[in-house]
Amino acid sequence: MRVGPSQDEIRRQNLGALLRFVHVHGATTRAELTTALGLNRSTIGALTADLAAAGLVTEGAPKETGRAGRPSLVVRPESARIFAYAYSIEVDRLRAARVGLGGAVLDRRELDRPRGLSAAEAAPLLASAVKEMRQALPEDAVCVGAGVAVCGMVRRDDGLVRLGPTTGWVDEPIGAALGTELGFDVPVTVGNVADVAAFAEHARGAAAGCDNVIYLYGDVGVGAGIIAGGRRLTGHGGYSGEVGHMVVVRDGARCECGNRGCWETEIGEHGLLRAAGRSDARGREALLAVFDAADRGDAQAQIAVRQAGDWLGFGVANLVNIFNPEMVIFGGTMRDLYLAAAAQVRSRLNCNGLPACLEHVRLRTPMLGEDAPLVGAAELAFDRLLADPLDVG
Ligand SMILES: [Zn+2]
Repeated sequence: MRVGPSQDEIRRQNLGALLRFVHVHGATTRAELTTALGLNRSTIGALTADLAAAGLVTEGAPKETGRAGRPSLVVRPESARIFAYAYSIEVDRLRAARVGLGGAVLDRRELDRPRGLSAAEAAPLLASAVKEMRQALPEDAVCVGAGVAVCGMVRRDDGLVRLGPTTGWVDEPIGAALGTELGFDVPVTVGNVADVAAFAEHARGAAAGCDNVIYLYGDVGVGAGIIAGGRRLTGHGGYSGEVGHMVVVRDGARCECGNRGCWETEIGEHGLLRAAGRSDARGREALLAVFDAADRGDAQAQIAVRQAGDWLGFGVANLVNIFNPEMVIFGGTMRDLYLAAAAQVRSRLNCNGLPACLEHVRLRTPMLGEDAPLVGAAELAFDRLLADPLDVG
């Protein structure tokens, strides 16, 4: 005989659904929660009381509405008290933040990252940033976990960074290293930066409400976070979305992964700087200088931007044909390239995209801007809390 979920399981699911709703949408009236979650008023009241007793939400009167009648109480996430630590390990910088339940960045630190810095060297730097933030913590603050966004291929099961071509990392246990440095008794969840940023934009950014999304993230390399059918597409081991290593040029330029002719050798940092005749330059500032020079009429910079824009459009057309997304978001240096070469990108996409796949696709820049990896890393940590609020809170 098949046994359905127990009363306790249903209650836990409902607690998670309610907490997730106010986490994503902010202050919500009981009446709105009743409609949104399809539960009756007394159930919403009981669930809210449980979450309030656990210190995860507060309940209070709404702001003056001017309407007659008894106003519905408003449920708010305990944003200042319940928080997660979020880290973003990028090619040229390390960032650490404290993100409150509800998604607001409460505190942050940023450090330059010399290229070539190992995981063992990065962990104590991030830990010292967190120790600084801890000194300003409210007394009753509760950390529910930590999340890390890292540029590299991350094994889903344990967060091991298998390969970070642009950081030079191979099999680096960054989550464990950070946990040890920080003395955390909460788990540290690690994800690829494009996946994590896609997660954030899907939860509370440009792609909120979209179930099929490609978030293209660029730094030196290029990767994609893919949301398909409302879920993150991770692949078997967690490595999906390595679109930067699609081979597009036979015997093309050498890629940091060891292959030749990968897509990122045409649209990533090295390709663009090479085409602009600035092979010796490095970093985002150097890229921005190329876009700026193109804007001011520098012929070689204009050719470089146009070529890279063409390549970006070809690749996006392929991705649109394969995944049929309703939105493509350009993040990191892909945002800069897209904005500099939007005409090329759109024209290639229109030529090479299948008409049916192009019907509803929108091209966007991130709504969360550069915070997307931090907000997404925090979402990784909050996911555990939202799955079973009373177990963690
Ligand atoms: Zn490659």
